[in-house]
Amino acid sequence: RAKSAGSLAPCFYDAPLDEAIRERREMANDLRVAIETGALGLHYQVQTSVTTGEVTGYEALVRWTHPKRGPISPAAFIPLAEENGLILALGEWVLRRACADAVEWDHQSKVAVNVSPVQLSHPELPRLFHQIMLDTGLPPRRLEIELTETAIIANREQSLHVLRQIKALGVGVALDDFGTGYSSLETLRAFPFDKIKLDRLFVSELEHSPQAVAIVRAVLALGKSLAIPVLAEGIETEHQLQVLKREGCDEVQGFLLGYPAALPLAHPQEAPAAEARSA
Ligand code: C2E
Ligand code: MG
Ligand code: MG
Ligand code: MG
Repeated sequence: RAKSAGSLAPCFYDAPLDEAIRERREMANDLRVAIETGALGLHYQVQTSVTTGEVTGYEALVRWTHPKRGPISPAAFIPLAEENGLILALGEWVLRRACADAVEWDHQSKVAVNVSPVQLSHPELPRLFHQIMLDTGLPPRRLEIELTETAIIANREQSLHVLRQIKALGVGVALDDFGTGYSSLETLRAFPFDKIKLDRLFVSELEHSPQAVAIVRAVLALGKSLAIPVLAEGIETEHQLQVLKREGCDEVQGFLLGYPAALPLAHPQEAPAAEARSA
């Protein structure tokens, strides 16, 4: 039976809405099972230095293949997990797995892990990070967390406090999707980020929009004056790479350099990234 929207609203049966709610509940339950049974996976996408062409790190991206519906985008199930608290268990699984993987694949490159702002509202998070570093043996300097701003940060001061503690462990902190959504200059002022990730929206417009070029230039200047390296996301063409190189971008990530892929990753020297750059 459908709930009424408010005490004065008439209560009538809304079949499509009811179905949507039922489906959402079912998806949440399937996701819970996937987390508990270890049915999630991680893909990794290479991050490259523009000046040296060297691999600097790999971003871990969670993957879920639903038993009936097939692959589901994290853009769809992460918000669902954030709504019902599942993000805490999911985030812990991702972190543990990414750190363990990084210890196995080499001895130097960084692993970048997306962390939901919902996780930051949890005061126990720094302790969890510390524990996972101990358990996996990954040196904290090889870990970087990627953070997007959202509207749902309930307590900004508390979140910044948790973030500072994580940074104090030696873990890097990157500001993800900069320039879109809720990302603000105030956040750059309030917290010493180790990296700015420029949203791929601007990169995708580089060819056709002088405004996009101007914005990229301004963000790179901002990074320079704050002494924070800038990584541009979503590089798909050689032309985009050349523009970013010319403008002094520090790092790049995108399909041109490498698609997100399951382990085992190709050795950096054999990765498609190396071919793309020398071509
Ligand atoms: P993000 O952190 O900004 O990750 C980059 C997204 O852009 C990834 O999508 C990646 O596959 C995609 N991408 C990379 N290069 C290119 C390119 O050249 N062109 C285009 N069109 N796309 C490119 P994905 O894997 O679907 O993830 C979407 C978002 O879901 C992520 O955006 C991140 O916000 C979130 N997410 C993914 N994994 C996790 C996770 O483990 N935890 C949390 N909390 N969020 C995650
Ligand atoms: Mg990210
Ligand atoms: Mg991003
Ligand atoms: Mg994103």
